Amino acid sequence: VLPPKGKPKWLRVKLPTGKKYTQLRGLVDKYNLHTICTSGSCPNMGECWGEGTATFMILGNVCTRSCGFCGVKTGRPEDVDWEEPEKVARSIKIMSIKHAVITSVDRDDIKDMGSIIWAETVKAIRRMNPETTLETLIPDFQGIETHLDRIVAVNPEVVSHNMETVKRLTREVRIQAKYERSLEVLRYLKASGINRTKSGIMLGLGELEEEVIQTMQDLRDANVDIVTIGQYLQPSKKHLPVKEFITPDQFKKYEEIGLKMGFRHVESGALVRSSYKAHKHIN
Ligand code: SF4
Ligand code: SF4
Repeated sequence: VLPPKGKPKWLRVKLPTGKKYTQLRGLVDKYNLHTICTSGSCPNMGECWGEGTATFMILGNVCTRSCGFCGVKTGRPEDVDWEEPEKVARSIKIMSIKHAVITSVDRDDIKDMGSIIWAETVKAIRRMNPETTLETLIPDFQGIETHLDRIVAVNPEVVSHNMETVKRLTREVRIQAKYERSLEVLRYLKASGINRTKSGIMLGLGELEEEVIQTMQDLRDANVDIVTIGQYLQPSKKHLPVKEFITPDQFKKYEEIGLKMGFRHVESGALVRSSYKAHKHIN
């Protein structure tokens, strides 16, 4: 266990470079497009953008929930923008994105919890970019099947929902969520015919190895196909502290355990984010 002071060397990243990256960066600035990759200053931009993958956030940038690890602002969200689906679809076209990951804030403030905009966004992207494949990284929609069914109906290639942490720490890490409910959402999606389901956890919040393995097993038991495991980093001093930096060897160990459990893909590494190497997960 390393003291959580100063970042270990495996977390230091090179600035993104590459022709495709520079080209996309130019378009994003020129057209004022919004991606999670840029707003979260993600360390993987060079790699993902080089491969034609980017992540977009819909339903505004204010969330009704207040997870202790998350850098998104909490409060009263703005009104739904019904033109948002078209805007996102246009951004994907301008950027020639081959594989798009869509995510959103949680909208517990509206009746459909944002599920209608979600479905409309997938439809608009498909209309404008018939070649682009999609991953939708969705909220739990409080487990309400009518809302989940709207996602199932538009059938994204991959549907993901993140557990974020182990069972014991769920209350502390994402207060308005429930471990079992998230598992149930994933189980329901797969049973409803979604081709690939996926979930992610962050490490370094004080979880034990056996709890991580149990979470992976719970995901497998819910027929989840893909798991991502990365290092938690504190977005600001107000957020939960990093208790531990997980070593590259430990990440490797989880990867091997996960593959043995039968996941189709396991992305496990300090810099892994839920949408890292996402284009691979359609297969
Ligand atoms: Fe964007 Fe996700 Fe890749 Fe980061 S990991 S650059 S957020 S697609
Ligand atoms: Fe952040 Fe999602 Fe939690 Fe909202 S629900 S605070 S966007 S992690």
